[in-house]
Amino acid sequence: MNMKIIQSPEEMQKQARLLIRSGISIGFVPTMGFLHEGHLSLIRIAKESADVAVVSIFVNPSQFGPNEDLDAYPRDFERDEKLCRDAGADFLFYPSVSTMYLNDHSIWVSEESLTGVLCGASRPGHFRGVCTIVAKLLNIVQPDVMVLGEKDAQQLRILRRMVRDLNCPATIIAAPTIREPDGLAMSSRNKYLTPDERAEAVCLFKSIEKVKELFANGERDAEKIKTAVRSVIEKTSGRVDYAEVVDNETLRLVQTLEKPVLVALAVKFSGARLIDNTVLG
Ligand code: AMP
Repeated sequence: MNMKIIQSPEEMQKQARLLIRSGISIGFVPTMGFLHEGHLSLIRIAKESADVAVVSIFVNPSQFGPNEDLDAYPRDFERDEKLCRDAGADFLFYPSVSTMYLNDHSIWVSEESLTGVLCGASRPGHFRGVCTIVAKLLNIVQPDVMVLGEKDAQQLRILRRMVRDLNCPATIIAAPTIREPDGLAMSSRNKYLTPDERAEAVCLFKSIEKVKELFANGERDAEKIKTAVRSVIEKTSGRVDYAEVVDNETLRLVQTLEKPVLVALAVKFSGARLIDNTVLG
């Protein structure tokens, strides 16, 4: 099937209804574009899990704070289009901001329990924007399956909660983080790093490797895990935005690693804020 590019939300919804009525299942990958191998791995999973794969590219203004990088966010539609086609996408949904947010848009979706920590704490309003846009995209694309990356661990947990609490008829599949050869998690924002920062940015991965090793050797004190993360980052020009150990389900801060925990960190370089995470236990 030739990949179709659709810009209008109404047209995308109409196509989705036609597919559903024909008994064709839909796999969906929401993205903000500037695609890399991480995104493409999600598209391949969507293709394996459903009859057709729909990819959306939408740089969602409502998930960016007033001092964040909305205008500078990297965009390259022509390149993305080719990558989607090569990865086997059947539909590329590429709406404009004005069709997704009408001038008097006034309904928002807020999560109220998992958002107070990690990226939710350092980016107020971010997950309200994420939940709102993903709820809208789910209503437009009406997928059977939505594929999301483990790289955005808090986003994944919040969207699982949204799908559960709002009875969205989609199953979420979590996809593993794809990394550069040196371990840096692939991200559209890596492009902002200076060459020196790019070399240093592997510190996020190194700190994760270090805490995995500590955990394997029996360390169960969250404070010691956090200190280990910070000590790796502090050797670089990166500034720790947060380094936390939280319950893997509730995202509540923990002191002792008894149940599975999420170790998550965000590091600010001059050009980009990067995140990474691992689950221990
Ligand atoms: P974004 O375009 O950054 O909004 O990301 C779109 C989707 O791709 C999200 O579900 C991300 O978690 C996922 N993603 C981003 N980077 C990676 C990566 N390195 N490996 C796997 N999935 C990723």
